[in-house]
Amino acid sequence: MSQTKTQFVATEEWKSQQKEKVKQTLEKLVNVITSDHVVDDITKVIIKGDRPCDSWSLRNKLLMLSQGTTDARSFNAWKAVGRYVKAGSKAIYIVKPYNVPIQIEKKNEKGEVIGKEEIYVFGGFTFQNEFKYEDTDGKELAYKKHDELPDLTTVAKKWGYSVEFDDTHDQSAYGYHDLQNKKIVLGVREKFADMIFFHELAHAAFKKIDPEAGALYSKNIILHKKEETIVQLSACVLAKLYGIDCEGFTQEYIANQIHTKNLKTVANAIGQVLDRVDQVVNLILYERQAVMKEELGN
Ligand SMILES: [Zn+2]
Repeated sequence: MSQTKTQFVATEEWKSQQKEKVKQTLEKLVNVITSDHVVDDITKVIIKGDRPCDSWSLRNKLLMLSQGTTDARSFNAWKAVGRYVKAGSKAIYIVKPYNVPIQIEKKNEKGEVIGKEEIYVFGGFTFQNEFKYEDTDGKELAYKKHDELPDLTTVAKKWGYSVEFDDTHDQSAYGYHDLQNKKIVLGVREKFADMIFFHELAHAAFKKIDPEAGALYSKNIILHKKEETIVQLSACVLAKLYGIDCEGFTQEYIANQIHTKNLKTVANAIGQVLDRVDQVVNLILYERQAVMKEELGN
């Protein structure tokens, strides 16, 4: 018995269709990032909960949102939870990188060729079809409700930071964090203090995620500005979750960091740091949950 496999051949027509699809996808993404509700959009999709898209990049989640849903899954993934895709529904898509095998020479310690080895290298991008929740029917899904957000200082404390107020400093310093002495110092009070606290906490998270980059970023002025962009955007998303609007301040802050008045340039800077913002916000929210679980366990 033999099995026949249809070999996929990339025709010129297929290639040009893919190219057009990539172009449209990028345009969609640029539209999301350059819109004035970018922080709103990020806030809607950034929290990891119980959806398969939790494992996607923030870019893909924004792409999903721009196609009209906050929960998209494959045909079979819907089937697995007792829902089916309605007849005639069109798939939406996200972008996935794919790898291709290449043969390389395998060498021994002396550098002599002893054979061949197959390794996988980045081959390009492809599309993954997904169906919107809105285009499915069937068993009701019990989405996890997000808990009331408690004070994030518990996260700072878990990481060994003390949080202090000191408004005796020069007016231009809203706050700072001291990595060595494990201190977050806030120079302002009330609502604005929350946002500054989120900013300093995001610095702490950024350094936790990648200590090497953290050290490098503080030495290099351009990288430092990039860190400020990541951190303020993360703070803005956290603030939004807590019902504090600071998009205007954030936009201005990032614009000042990169010395521009052009909002497209700001949007571009935001687009470049999305993955890091995703990591920073989710690390903080994850730790918050861990602290809550520990408290419940005691
Ligand atoms: Zn900062």
